[in-house]
Amino acid sequence: MMGSMMGTPLLVSSLIRHAARHAADTEIVSRRAEGDLHRTTWAALELRARRLAQALERLGVAAGERVGTLAWNGYRHVEIYYGSAGSGRVCHTINPRLHPEQIAWIVHHAQDAVLCFDRSFLPLVESLWPQLGCVRHFVLLADAADMPEASTVPGLLCYETLVQAEDGGYEWPELDEDAACGICYTSGTTGDPKGVAYSHRATVLHAMASACPDALGLSSRDSVLPVVPMFHVNAWGLPYSAAMVGAKLVLPGGQLDGASLYELFEREQVTFTAGVPTVWLGVLEHVRRHGLRFSSLQRAMIGGSACPPSMMEAFESYGVEVLHGWGMTEMSPIGTVSRLKAKHLHLPAAERHRLLHKQGRALFGVEMEVVDDDGRPLPWDGASAGALVVRGPWIIERYYRHERSALMELPGRGAWFPTGDIATIDADGFMQITDRIKDLIKSGGEWIGSIDLENVAMAHPAVQEAAVIAARHEKWGERPLLIAVRKPDAALTREELLAFFEGRVAKWQVPDDVVFVEALPHAATGKVQKLKLREQFKDHLLH
Ligand code: ADP
Repeated sequence: MMGSMMGTPLLVSSLIRHAARHAADTEIVSRRAEGDLHRTTWAALELRARRLAQALERLGVAAGERVGTLAWNGYRHVEIYYGSAGSGRVCHTINPRLHPEQIAWIVHHAQDAVLCFDRSFLPLVESLWPQLGCVRHFVLLADAADMPEASTVPGLLCYETLVQAEDGGYEWPELDEDAACGICYTSGTTGDPKGVAYSHRATVLHAMASACPDALGLSSRDSVLPVVPMFHVNAWGLPYSAAMVGAKLVLPGGQLDGASLYELFEREQVTFTAGVPTVWLGVLEHVRRHGLRFSSLQRAMIGGSACPPSMMEAFESYGVEVLHGWGMTEMSPIGTVSRLKAKHLHLPAAERHRLLHKQGRALFGVEMEVVDDDGRPLPWDGASAGALVVRGPWIIERYYRHERSALMELPGRGAWFPTGDIATIDADGFMQITDRIKDLIKSGGEWIGSIDLENVAMAHPAVQEAAVIAARHEKWGERPLLIAVRKPDAALTREELLAFFEGRVAKWQVPDDVVFVEALPHAATGKVQKLKLREQFKDHLLH
């Protein structure tokens, strides 16, 4: 017997329609490139998204075609998310921090028909456009008054002129919920970037699950500031989940330094924020140096790479709860969030922290297992480490324009996505990443995870940032090498830092040496580029 309920498709447009109806006057505040703050509401933004859909129609952009963006977090970018996807086009967010050649490769691979970009990326587009043959319309995200007098970009269009020419008399169409709404490329640290095409259904389900209390716990009482860029896996879905719950949205533009972010947190009474660990170094340093406090901030979601326990403790000392999350571009992106269960609430603080430092428990919708080399599931005992595999409705099946599935068959258990991470899962379902497979250090037949060692180094008060890599070793094959950045004005010797590891990790895991550097190389998403460090220092321990 079949159920007899409505078959309403899950569409991205339903999120913005809901926000416009039920959170009509809730604000979206954006820091513009000019430095001033722009204020709008969900109702006004939805109207402009519909006008944008009309403009795309007028430009002859067909359903299913890609609308590329090179843009910071701002209201126009949100309009493009909804105006393009809601009308059946596909929003392709491009990471502007990638190498220009890689940007050209990605635009070409996605076959973007339109490219919308912030004023700050005009020089980039002026140098790249001859390589972007597929792009029929270049659109500058600016007011008519701010358009350049001349540009080498052919037929450069003004976003405001396009939007303002339309009347908004447009109904969001009913689309197939399995159609693509967005596409995002992985950073390509190994080989060419790979495209992940999100469906409407996946995006709406991900928004629903991620807003739940044991995940981000979002509501209409929140003021949400995604520091994570809208070109980094859709700012972890926040432009969608904030609309779904009708939260206020605060968008920081390109000013991501500690002082600018702190000012926005306070001025807009932000309650929830999210970003990779590196961005918080600047915020925490600013707050510490000026003896400040957070008057409204309640929760900070930290993920993308492991959140060092010392960072979690620093936030907690200011009364801010850190939600450690794990995910991937291939997972829309959120897979797990570290949240305690009722039975953990009365544990001693050290025990609670031990759990919260882990990457956390799976959202409903994400199934996960750790498996051995033969694909057999390992016990959930918090100790057995294996390859982490996942499956669920917002997890990739195949990369865009790839023939082959991205999944692997587990004996008798169907198809799963191999994440490339090594993890343990405990009896309560808390998953902990020990490393990425490619970052593990193989020392004399034993594996050493780099994340634990980095966390110890980061806990030293004189260390600003640290990375541990595998360096070649004559006797052991590989040994851990610590690359560290001292805090400004801090004095710290190699011997002092190595002594700090004693008693904190097993003796044989202590790094063999420390190299102090001025700064670590960061990838376009803000993560430490270990590949670069390995290239530079892999022979450091050879004599
Ligand atoms: P990229 O490969 O471009 O960095 P993602 O941003 O999708 O792509 O990165 C996903 C990977 O980031 C995960 O597979 C994992 O290795 C790492 N990661 C994400 N969150 C965490 C976390 N909280 N702790 C440790 N590693 C993490």
